[in-house]
Parts: sequence; C-alpha cells; structure tokens
Amino acid sequence: MARSPESGMSYHLTQAMTGHGCFGKFLHRIRKRRNPGCDFCEEEVDDAIHTLRECPAWDPQRTQLKGKLGLQRDFTLGDIIDAIARSEEHWTAFSAYVQEVMREKEDEERRRERERASSSSFVGEDGSD
Ligand SMILES: [Zn+2]
Repeated sequence: MARSPESGMSYHLTQAMTGHGCFGKFLHRIRKRRNPGCDFCEEEVDDAIHTLRECPAWDPQRTQLKGKLGLQRDFTLGDIIDAIARSEEHWTAFSAYVQEVMREKEDEERRRERERASSSSFVGEDGSD
C-alpha cells in the first residue's frame, strides 16, 4: 500500500510519535501490563524512543533506516521529523520501519495476552472499574 505525506500519519506512525501504543511503558500505565519492560530485550522501560532508537531487536531494520535518512547513532525524534519532512523518500522509509517494528510488537503483545488469558492469573487483580 502506497502512502503519501498528504495522507497524514498512519496509525503506527502516530503511535511512535506519541508513545501511545504498543510500548511497555504505555501498556503498564494503562494497566495492561505488570511492568513497563521491553519484550524483546532486557531494557526495564520500553517506550517509543527505546523501540525506535535503542532496542537491539530492530538493529537490522534500523541500520537501513539510518543509512537512508542520514541519522546519527543517538538520533532524536526531532531528527527523524526533520529528515522525513525533507523528502518523501525519507518519509516512506521511516513509515515502513515503524510499520514493520510495530506490527511485530503487536503480534508479540497479542501472544502474551493469550498466554495471560489462558493462565488467568492476571485477571481480577485490580478492582477498579
Ligand atoms: Zn528492547
């Protein structure tokens, strides 16, 4: 599926920019997780910048992205925004990276949800409505 900048931010891109998505820190905050850690490495807090910049699970994809966008090792979200604002090719590359990473994270989260549901130890612990 082709996307153009005019079509606005995709679902996954919005998640990456806001941090409101399939990240341990966010899932923990909304009480879907017991801890905010990363599923894919030992990091204790998984947030958008961990996923985009640091998590070793996405190194191969990230290396390609950094090459295409000319990002430094310690790039920030601001650097990404600068790069994707500069060219549509950058936008497409970043969009593809985020899409691929977030899909895998969501698959993993669904797998975990199923495990939790079948063990049922997580359900009923929190009495809020
Ligand atoms: Zn990680």
